[in-house]
Amino acid sequence: MKKNLFCLVLILFMVGCAPVYQIPTKTSKLKGIPTIKISLGRLEKIEIKGNNILIKNDNTTAKGNSLKITTSSIQLDGKAVNKIQPPFEVIADNDILEFNGKKFRGSLLIYNKQSNFLVVNKVDMENYLKGVVPCELKTTEMEALKAQIIASRSFALHLIKPETEYYDLTSGVEAQVYKGVEAEVDFIDKAIEETKGIVCTYNGQTIETQYSSNCGGRTANGKALYLKSTPCQFCKSYPNYRWECSFSRASFFEKLGAAGNSFSITKKDKSGRVIELQIPDADCTLKGEQIRAKLGLKSTFFEIKDNGDKITISGKGYGHGIGLCQYGAVGMSKQGFDYKSILKHYYSGIKIEKIY
Ligand SMILES: [Zn+2]
Repeated sequence: MKKNLFCLVLILFMVGCAPVYQIPTKTSKLKGIPTIKISLGRLEKIEIKGNNILIKNDNTTAKGNSLKITTSSIQLDGKAVNKIQPPFEVIADNDILEFNGKKFRGSLLIYNKQSNFLVVNKVDMENYLKGVVPCELKTTEMEALKAQIIASRSFALHLIKPETEYYDLTSGVEAQVYKGVEAEVDFIDKAIEETKGIVCTYNGQTIETQYSSNCGGRTANGKALYLKSTPCQFCKSYPNYRWECSFSRASFFEKLGAAGNSFSITKKDKSGRVIELQIPDADCTLKGEQIRAKLGLKSTFFEIKDNGDKITISGKGYGHGIGLCQYGAVGMSKQGFDYKSILKHYYSGIKIEKIY
């Protein structure tokens, strides 16, 4: 009995001392500016121009000024080349390449994907941000811009995948909108330089700094501890703080894809956003995001009024509402808050650190 008890105590002791497995750190200090790989899409025809472009892969290299790639041929300065085939990397002398009429910094990676080519832009983080921030926040409020820059930098760093992956993120709204050189604005470039390497961290890890346009008065809870719902009145005088739309009774149920006649919101989250709506006579339950998509609403932060023939939806905010409220950041900046106060308002318990 005593021996059994000893074993039990030993096991409990060992379990208590077992190291907790941790995902390899996303940050700590980095040695230099990290590079990021952005998918620019899959295409059948590619035209790349640049100053003394170098095309290289593990087997060979080639040089020229203009490269045309189609599924049937590769032409360098107008002449067919057979010695070099994708996958390859295209690099320009001055670090700027024109790809199908649009300029990008860094290099381009081209992969052959059977019927088309995958084009990936490999660029350093600071140059990536120059092509992102002007697309994501249109304001001249410097502290709001710096908060957006740091949020965009942290968000992108969080998405960096192992080197073996073709790319880390896409260039559309599903990640962050990235348009390369054409998006760049001098005063935003300057704000990026002034905040170089600064990110938001929690427990020493770069965080997933989600953000959305207007929180409607209260941000939503996210999955992480630092994404806590918080009140926000700073976005009050900005677009989409409140909105309203109406549907005829028939089109409301038709768009929801439920042949019903009555409905009720059965679940909301703590911030007041709709989690679930039931249409009992059609035996149908819809999630907040499904309703948002089917009815084309700006957010899931809404009330529904049944006025017989007309169904009216009164809503708050634009976007998922998690994390930084972009118009709230602009409002805070106008009231004199600095970027650190702005970020700490929307991301709970974080630190703001320079990691390169
Ligand atoms: Zn807000």
